[in-house]
Amino acid sequence: MKTLVLNSGSSSLKYRLFSGETPLADGLAEQIGEPTGHLVYHNLEKKLEHNLTEPLKDHKEALKQVLAFLTDPQLGVLANPEELGAVGHRVVHGGEHFSASALIDDEVLAAIHACVPLAPLHNPANILGIETAKEVFPKAKQIAVFDTAFHQSLPERAYRYALPESHYKDLGIRRYGFHGTSHRYVAQEAARFLGRPLEELKLITLHLGNGSSMAAIKGGRSIDTTMGLTPLEGLVMGTRSGDLDPAIPGFLAQHLSLDAAGVDQVLNKKSGFKGLTGSNDLRTIEAGYQAGGQAERLALELASYRIQKYIGAYLAILGGLDALVFTAGIGEHSALFRKLCVEGLEHLGIELDPQANQHPHQPDLSAQHSKTKILTLPTNEELQIVRECLGVIG
Ligand code: ADP
Repeated sequence: MKTLVLNSGSSSLKYRLFSGETPLADGLAEQIGEPTGHLVYHNLEKKLEHNLTEPLKDHKEALKQVLAFLTDPQLGVLANPEELGAVGHRVVHGGEHFSASALIDDEVLAAIHACVPLAPLHNPANILGIETAKEVFPKAKQIAVFDTAFHQSLPERAYRYALPESHYKDLGIRRYGFHGTSHRYVAQEAARFLGRPLEELKLITLHLGNGSSMAAIKGGRSIDTTMGLTPLEGLVMGTRSGDLDPAIPGFLAQHLSLDAAGVDQVLNKKSGFKGLTGSNDLRTIEAGYQAGGQAERLALELASYRIQKYIGAYLAILGGLDALVFTAGIGEHSALFRKLCVEGLEHLGIELDPQANQHPHQPDLSAQHSKTKILTLPTNEELQIVRECLGVIG
């Protein structure tokens, strides 16, 4: 079966077409609705790339253009649009409605709409992607795969905040967690690599990219995660502060005369690595650190120290640990950051092989006698979305 995976943003559309689990084509439409749009198309089999720079009026026009490439006699991978069996949509917030992926019907679409207040920037763009795909591919099944679904297994003590109960009941204020598709995928990959059933394993997964989060996974179920009501909670990220004293937003509002949106802007866009060093790109920060930069040293120490605190906390609630799994841009590529994250944890049975960490030829980076495996595994959210679609369709 052929499946198109779509990640729809407010002015962008990322796509990848699979046959079964094999990717055939992918690309990205950007600056949709702006005077100049840009569309990239790759035929992965024939290693062909095509770029188009022209205005893309709206998401429908962009997706129609993608379809034109997909069915093009030379560049394409589909004989006709009817060959497409399913479209898998990445949807950021499924609230408490969704603990699994879902075949989209009117009821499911209404439930995704109901989650808009929880993700006011992301869910409307995801809904736009769904509505567009329904028009352009009317025969294909539409399936929603939620970033939050994997963490619906959190126990109440982990997902509730100590706020008045009515704030949970009436406003839905609780911890949801994000990056669920990635955490689930790398947990499965870890089990496969270790040659053990996922149901037996205690794992900590670290998705470290521009946005970063960790999950404690017991027997394949997420039992805690660092992100909360929104992706702001938890780790130090590219531009997000992560955890802080809850009094700080009020303090900022008062002393800098900011409204709620202004405070939000500081914490989500001007903090994290960007706030500490001026850059949110870990490569730039690493270069500054190697050159002896104080700000860069502090940023990497602060971020890895927080990760160590979470490793300790998750070790306690998991009651043991089989593997620590690094993934995403930083987790897959930064030997320095991985080293800082596990340095000094030998007493917990977590010990890195410095050579393997520096030049990873295979996923296992742990020293021979390390009780816990330290793995780096590439995430593949698109592939996980396809697997979810195949699962939903049966
Ligand atoms: P996103 O959350 O946008 O998907 P990614 O998973 O692509 O982000 O991760 C982006 C981060 O990964 C950036 O901070 C980038 O600097 C970092 N990164 C990518 N490649 C490397 C590398 N070779 N060495 C160090 N950091 C890297």
